Amino acid sequence: MDIKNTLSEIFLKVFNLDYDAYLQKGSRDLYGIRLIEDEHCNVINCCRMFGLDHPILMDAIKKKGLIQSVCGYLTDAGKIINIYDLNGDLLFVADTFLKAETRTQYALLFHELCHLIIEAGLEYKHLLVPNAYSQGKNIRKYTQYIGSYENDRWHTDNWFALLFATSMRLASEYPVLFKNQQDAVECSLIYDVLPGDLPMNNIEWMRNNH
Ligand SMILES: [Zn+2]
Repeated sequence: MDIKNTLSEIFLKVFNLDYDAYLQKGSRDLYGIRLIEDEHCNVINCCRMFGLDHPILMDAIKKKGLIQSVCGYLTDAGKIINIYDLNGDLLFVADTFLKAETRTQYALLFHELCHLIIEAGLEYKHLLVPNAYSQGKNIRKYTQYIGSYENDRWHTDNWFALLFATSMRLASEYPVLFKNQQDAVECSLIYDVLPGDLPMNNIEWMRNNH
């Protein structure tokens, strides 16, 4: 999989947004980092996948506890990891991501793009559906027991509302990968839900009319 191309494709198909235009507008680069894991899935190192090299980027990433996830996206990463001359976003993927099924990879990139939209302050209210917030909160209940830093900091009500509303588009744009909206959401949160808490049956899933 060409990760950057897939990211752009999902951005366009699901959110109707142009990824290159987003980067150009902020004069940003995208840095891709691969997190290397040991046999217990602990990150032990990282290396550049694409984007410009930055002399202290690797050290900064290693020092931060932010990388302990399978897939992550930091908008304006320089501000978050305290490298102020780094103007760009950071996508990191662990070996677990690289070895995952295609549908998991697509769903996780979709998950990260929801973060990008909220964190970059892009307009998304027009993408919401009337029950986006109530159903987003119901989905959130499946993840609240994890209590991770990411859960508290980035998995907000706005983020869940956006994920719920646009997951219908993900499912209908990729019918070969996802059975329906529920399948798309469960796949996008597979690493955020405790084992045994799926399927998410207390949600009013939208009908796929495609
Ligand atoms: Zn997340």
